[in-house]
Amino acid sequence: MNDISKLPKVDLHIHLEGSITPAMVRKLADKNGIEIPDGLFDASGENFHWPDDGTAAGALKGFVEAYDKATSVMRGAEDFEAVTYDYFARSAAEGCIYAEPIISAEHGAMAGLTYAEMMAAITAGYERAKAETGIEARFIATCVRHYGPAAAIHVAEITRDNPHPLVTAFGMAGDENAHSVADFKAAYDIAALPYRNAHAGEAAGAESIRAARELLGVRRFGHMVRAIEDAALMQEQLKINAVPEVCVSSNLCLKVYPDYASHPLRKFFDAGLKVTLGSDDPTFFGTSIGREYQIAHAHFGFTVAELLQISRNAIEEAFCDTETRTRLLRRIDAYSV
Ligand SMILES: [Zn+2]
Repeated sequence: MNDISKLPKVDLHIHLEGSITPAMVRKLADKNGIEIPDGLFDASGENFHWPDDGTAAGALKGFVEAYDKATSVMRGAEDFEAVTYDYFARSAAEGCIYAEPIISAEHGAMAGLTYAEMMAAITAGYERAKAETGIEARFIATCVRHYGPAAAIHVAEITRDNPHPLVTAFGMAGDENAHSVADFKAAYDIAALPYRNAHAGEAAGAESIRAARELLGVRRFGHMVRAIEDAALMQEQLKINAVPEVCVSSNLCLKVYPDYASHPLRKFFDAGLKVTLGSDDPTFFGTSIGREYQIAHAHFGFTVAELLQISRNAIEEAFCDTETRTRLLRRIDAYSV
């Protein structure tokens, strides 16, 4: 245990189903009488596995297939509640005080749930973890870009028609090279939630980030790491005080960068960007929010004070109300004194 293990952490980029553990997959598969597809785990059975052909495209394809196989064992409300509770309890044990899981109405539907049923199950899991650990959360209703604009509008309408006090933002995930950003503006407008973000600058470069900013009015970006390729864009992003949700392990696993040395996390922070951290799909990338903070310390030289600044950045930019923000900032300040 070092002091980073106790440091208050914030996970601003986490796909709820992407937190399912191999142990949970086995448990749910057993309960639901589903056979686990071959090749989903490595030899130890402790980690997810997919073939490596050395390319980013191959890694992404393999990951998506493993993700779909693993999450296909989730059936019904009980399973959503279990996966949600498990994520929050594990994160809180690592010092996480706040998280904003990305939720997917489409994954709920695959598990046989309406959006309202899925949210009730997620809320139950969250409330149980919150009561036990004090961890807090809001949720980001998210459309999947490669499912197309019509599907995104459907997700937006469901979100609008089932308002939930903890669902405070609309976002977009999925293949950044599918369709154009403009095609999704309508979905964001229909959802009409107080906050918005979008995955941009991970699989695609500067233009994707510019488009999300200009067409969707996004200031908080999933990843944004490839902004580093364009000096003018970096200046534009600094000017709007853009907030990148940086997920280092995800970027390395999906071969966006070959190693820590080439990853722009440190450059982003030193340039003055309001850096935050995320675990993305933690169990698939062999990580957790605790590990992401440890990596920032061990491989990027972030001091305890700098890591606290990252947590503060995240709470300042969290998609929550002022009262919650103030309470969470106090928890960070209490650690630093
Ligand atoms: Zn993501």
